[in-house]
Amino acid sequence: MDLGLNGKKAIVCAASKGLGRGCAMALAGEGVKLVINSRDPDKLEQTADEIRSATGATVITVAGDIATEKTRADILAACPAPDILVNNAGGPPPGNFRDWGRDDWIRAIDNNMLTPIELIKAVIDGMIERRFGRIVNITSSAVRAPIDVLGLSNGARAGLTGFVAGLARTAARHNVTINNLLPGAFATERMTGVTRAMAEANGLDPDAELERRRLLIPAERFGDPREFGHACAFLCSADAGYLVGHNLLLDGGAYPGTM
Ligand code: NAP
Repeated sequence: MDLGLNGKKAIVCAASKGLGRGCAMALAGEGVKLVINSRDPDKLEQTADEIRSATGATVITVAGDIATEKTRADILAACPAPDILVNNAGGPPPGNFRDWGRDDWIRAIDNNMLTPIELIKAVIDGMIERRFGRIVNITSSAVRAPIDVLGLSNGARAGLTGFVAGLARTAARHNVTINNLLPGAFATERMTGVTRAMAEANGLDPDAELERRRLLIPAERFGDPREFGHACAFLCSADAGYLVGHNLLLDGGAYPGTM
């Protein structure tokens, strides 16, 4: 299936590993020219090389913390007129809300709500003028089914979700879409790291805990960042202009609801 993306330009944030990398790889496979970002410059460059050799795509790297104005400015300088924006950042740490102060909340809101909003603000009017734009925010299944220990994530991402639900309706008539991709449990460093750390904190065997988690998923496996990337590429495709303001849950069937 030709997604109609050959020659388009994309910014993919937090893309050296995991889900962001999956999105970058899938878009590059469709002929999209990329600007990718993450903080560790060596790992970022290594990922860029892997994407270039797997797809032949043009990949520019911009290292830095996406929650800083400087990094966002550097990214926009490298790609001033993107057709596609994939918003992503590291997730907030788990914990007990009684232990979190204002600074913890501000950090979570900055990373997972205000940073994507700032980037959307920077690119959306150009997309509207050019009558093509695809914005995908990587959020979490926790937006649909909150996870108690991830309160910082539940709160910050719910804020982003509410905001873009309104904005998406104002951009749709210009062939600019905004949708959110909600990962359940995907096999990434973050997912295995958080699961192991929480198991250890609770005196449980980390391997047994990962296995217990896996078996709670109807698909009986963790998601592959590659398949997450393909869902992202589909949301960005030329014929996806009527898909507006959705929260697409990719969780192997873990959410037990009818809709
Ligand atoms: P991951 O494997 O740890 O990868 C995170 C990527 O983001 C890395 O490339 C990392 O590189 C980069 N990054 C982190 N913080 C950044 C920052 N401030 N600025 C720029 N780049 C940054 O994580 P993941 O599993 O792909 O998760 C991606 C997002 O999905 C997170 O927000 C996570 O909470 C959410 N999520 C994941 C799952 C899951 O099962 N995997 C489920 C629900 C939600 P550097 O460290 O070098 O910057």
